[in-house]
Amino acid sequence: SPTVGVLALQGNVREHVAALTAVGATAVPVRRPAELAAVDGIVLPGGESTTVSKLLDTFELLEPLRARLRDGLPAYGSCAGMILLADEILDGRPDQHQLGGLDVVVRRNAFGRQVDSFETDLEFAGLTGDPVHAVFIRAPWVEKTGGDVEVLASVPDLTSNGADAGEAAGRAVAVRQGPVLATSFHPELTGDRRVHGLFVDMVRAAIG
Ligand code: GLN
Repeated sequence: SPTVGVLALQGNVREHVAALTAVGATAVPVRRPAELAAVDGIVLPGGESTTVSKLLDTFELLEPLRARLRDGLPAYGSCAGMILLADEILDGRPDQHQLGGLDVVVRRNAFGRQVDSFETDLEFAGLTGDPVHAVFIRAPWVEKTGGDVEVLASVPDLTSNGADAGEAAGRAVAVRQGPVLATSFHPELTGDRRVHGLFVDMVRAAIG
């Protein structure tokens, strides 16, 4: 089975490890460059992107992670992980680092003006069965995508959540570019393993 790392500096590490294990991966926490070197794919959990950015520096993982992403390491970023993978962010802190590799512009804390945290059902391209129940926690959205980026899910009309649907409706919240997957929401919190299953399939395809 493929070995999938979970960046273990902050966030829902245990939940991602459990979800990856449930879909047949060997999941390992990653805190050190040697651990990063041994994985076939990496999950970047949610948390606070500015904090994770600093910790990547402290743990000397920033450049090794950038290098592996440049070499095509499959990566899945949730929420703050999506922010880290984006080539460009809006409303970020000027000193926060980007790993890059995902040709998108992401707006940090994008839903803040309407609603901080909310849950909704989403149609997710390529996942069969019920819609995905998506948990958003001070989430980003994707504001612009490059030509090689596929939008897999977008925000539906949120008026039934009591939100001002205004700017949020139609925003991309799940994207894929080759071996890189990102969601604004947190599938590790719901027990639905399909997003992790999709990512592990991407890792399997990459290692052949
Ligand atoms: N708002 C956070 C950030 O800017 C992301 C929130 C999350 O990962 N749940 O990094």
